[in-house]
Amino acid sequence: MPKKPTEKGMGKEDIKLQTPKGMRDLIGEEYYRYQGFFEKASEVAIYYGFQPIETPILESEGLFYHSVGAHTDIIEKELYTLRTKGGDRLALRPEGTAPIMRAYFEHGLQSQPQPVMLYYHGPFFRHDSPQKGRYRELRQFGLEVIGSSKSITDALVIRLVNTILTEAGLPDLTIEINSIGDRDCRPIWKRELVNYYRKHAKEICADCRERLKDNPLRLLDCKNPKCQTLKIAAPSVISYLCTGCKQHFKEVLECLEAMNITYTINNNLVRGLDYYSRTVFEISMAPAEGEADGLPLALAGGGRYDYLSRALGSKKQVPAVGVAIGADRVLAAPGVANLLPRLIKKPKIFFIQLGTEAKMKSLSIIEILRHTKTPIAHSLSKDSLSAQLGIAEKVNIPYAMILGQKEVIDNTVIIRDMRSRAQNVVKLDELANYLKTLKA
Ligand code: AMP
Repeated sequence: MPKKPTEKGMGKEDIKLQTPKGMRDLIGEEYYRYQGFFEKASEVAIYYGFQPIETPILESEGLFYHSVGAHTDIIEKELYTLRTKGGDRLALRPEGTAPIMRAYFEHGLQSQPQPVMLYYHGPFFRHDSPQKGRYRELRQFGLEVIGSSKSITDALVIRLVNTILTEAGLPDLTIEINSIGDRDCRPIWKRELVNYYRKHAKEICADCRERLKDNPLRLLDCKNPKCQTLKIAAPSVISYLCTGCKQHFKEVLECLEAMNITYTINNNLVRGLDYYSRTVFEISMAPAEGEADGLPLALAGGGRYDYLSRALGSKKQVPAVGVAIGADRVLAAPGVANLLPRLIKKPKIFFIQLGTEAKMKSLSIIEILRHTKTPIAHSLSKDSLSAQLGIAEKVNIPYAMILGQKEVIDNTVIIRDMRSRAQNVVKLDELANYLKTLKA
């Protein structure tokens, strides 16, 4: 027998009939909008040779600790963690790249032709303060190209995000791009950055003083007005890139130009996660007129992560590049297209069943309709003809199909045109052919 919950917050009187803060139900039109966007994005990815992948919502906590980085906001402040009854420490996934890299090794994908190109979508969890465009349960669509260091793969990923967002009806995009170097050149730049900010430690915000100790590149990410002037004279990464990184960055930019993709170089773009190397980029839309904070809203972000494989314990370095698109922000953006999923179909017939026998028989008749791809609506709990006809009129469905006791015995149904009110009795074994003659 399960024990009666006695802990605080577990009694019936404590149940709140609402989603947890920062999380939402997707119902009706909104559900279809998300599904439509994911279908469109998946379609673009499939045509470019990407394969689907789905990983669990829960992963071991250590996976994120060693990949995203211990001194990042995601790990320090935002990770949802839990201990299972068996004692395992798990975390709700805050992002998709580390789980996919885990899956790449777990399933031996390194023995497949490289690069392995994967796409995914689903919910992710970050315990942040909810506000406009920021949820605790967020939904992303992502792409990962694993097993190539070639600059063309960076450009491919940027091109695809650009295509997906443009097809979602968002043409006015800003693509910001930067290179944050590799393990040869980045430490030198980082040292110079730390020296510079140490000299100005009194002028920066409290968060930045912490960043200076734990994650100095994030100093360049700070949005606090107090820290903006200092950024201008901060050592710029571009002057510290080694020959290899400079060449790689140059090639990525050349590929983008060859594809007519407009970009802006932003040397202060570093992105929050530890595993990035070389290319980092962010795609945003200008804020809507009259927006209070006036900051552009990032719709997607990504970059190269050549060192993630090693951080996860692999002996071999597996270079890779990827991107995540924030579906919640895309679907809230002004002007976004209404991309409906392929599977939704407006009901063509309202199926009226009169009495218990008819209700029972109706389920096998729905099979005939399903095989002829005729979507229906019906009301299994209503018995009277007038109540059911009333619903059919209200929801504006062109035909009604009536199954009463007589029709059950005769193996027939009545088809009624809701506009002209003309009715026809149709034998069940002729129903499939008859349905083909009905206009939508
Ligand atoms: P990230 O995984 O942090 O690189 O984020 C990729 C994209 O996901 C961002 O550009 C946003 O569009 C979106 N995103 C990130 N965090 C949130 C959040 N808390 N709520 C909604 N969307 C988010």
